[in-house]
Amino acid sequence: MAVPKRKTSKKVKNQRRTHKNLQVPGLNECSNCGELTKPHHVCKSCGHYDGREVIASN
Ligand SMILES: [Zn+2]
Repeated sequence: MAVPKRKTSKKVKNQRRTHKNLQVPGLNECSNCGELTKPHHVCKSCGHYDGREVIASN
């Protein structure tokens, strides 16, 4: 069975699961109402996207 030649250093060990922390919380502010929305998604509260109303609210 293959055996590691060297002990894994603390640095390498601690670098192992860092990419989880690199994710940004995917939230933008709506340009119409200021509500937090997901990027490239229609605003839930006012139905606006890209500066215009996409979903008719009433
Ligand atoms: Zn909005």
